[in-house]
Amino acid sequence: MKVLWNDQIVDESEVKIDLEDRGYQFGDGIYEVIRIYDGYMYMEKEHLDRLWVSAEKIRMTLPFTKEALSERLHQLAKEAGLENARVYFQVTRGTAKPRLHDFPDPKEVPPVLMADIQPASRPTAKQTIGIRAGFVEDKRWLHCDIKSISLLGNLLALDEAKQNGYEEAVLVRDNYVTEASASNLWMVKNEVLYTHPDGNLILPGITKIKIREIAKALGIELKEEAFTDKELLAADECFKTSSVAEIMPIIEIDNQKIGDGMPGKVTKKILHAYIEAVNLSVQA
Ligand code: PLP
Repeated sequence: MKVLWNDQIVDESEVKIDLEDRGYQFGDGIYEVIRIYDGYMYMEKEHLDRLWVSAEKIRMTLPFTKEALSERLHQLAKEAGLENARVYFQVTRGTAKPRLHDFPDPKEVPPVLMADIQPASRPTAKQTIGIRAGFVEDKRWLHCDIKSISLLGNLLALDEAKQNGYEEAVLVRDNYVTEASASNLWMVKNEVLYTHPDGNLILPGITKIKIREIAKALGIELKEEAFTDKELLAADECFKTSSVAEIMPIIEIDNQKIGDGMPGKVTKKILHAYIEAVNLSVQA
């Protein structure tokens, strides 16, 4: 498999990551995931912009431009020959020896970039039936707005939900629902759409940007306000969003039905509009 390694596209077997790479030792890095539909990188600009925002927040200077990275990602996608896929890319703060907590001088230690492409298909079967989730206490740090490769808090939450027999974790901090383990979380109550406001407690999703546009176009009232776990259990509909999961209905939380326990009508409308938006971008 071909991968991007710094500024080269090479066979995976040629990549050498140093044992002292700060990503490997400290989780000191950031990442992005872009969905490719029929060869089109959906909302690429927004994902690249967010990578630069994450870099700034961790005080990392990226040694390449957005244009150069974009060109490399497109080249990789072409070489991989995958029409429907997801591209994962990450940048770590590079290899600094000996291991020291202090950030190295970026002039001496350049960040390390990698990207790989894997096939991906639309999760249509799950979208038709919805998924079952469980509440998990949000014990992550207070920089959830940074798309950090240090995902242990998210992984522990997902694992806790799975151990309890659920497919996903709905994270709750101080009684308020923040997001899911790798997606943003939404509820519909009396025809109004609610989601947690951006800030340091959630990742500002790129899919969320698109849902704002869709809600406006469909005349659905959107309130970016935090809601409690109790309010969510009393909601009419619930769904999560991410670049890979798109719009995914959540039909039960902690074994309690949300609404009638089926994907809701507003959820389905938004999913339909999302796929229309994807198709329009692909055809443009
Ligand atoms: N929240 C978290 C914690 C995530 O990991 C993700 C995606 O990976 C999202 C939200 C959704 O982000 P996006 O819509 O940009 O894929």
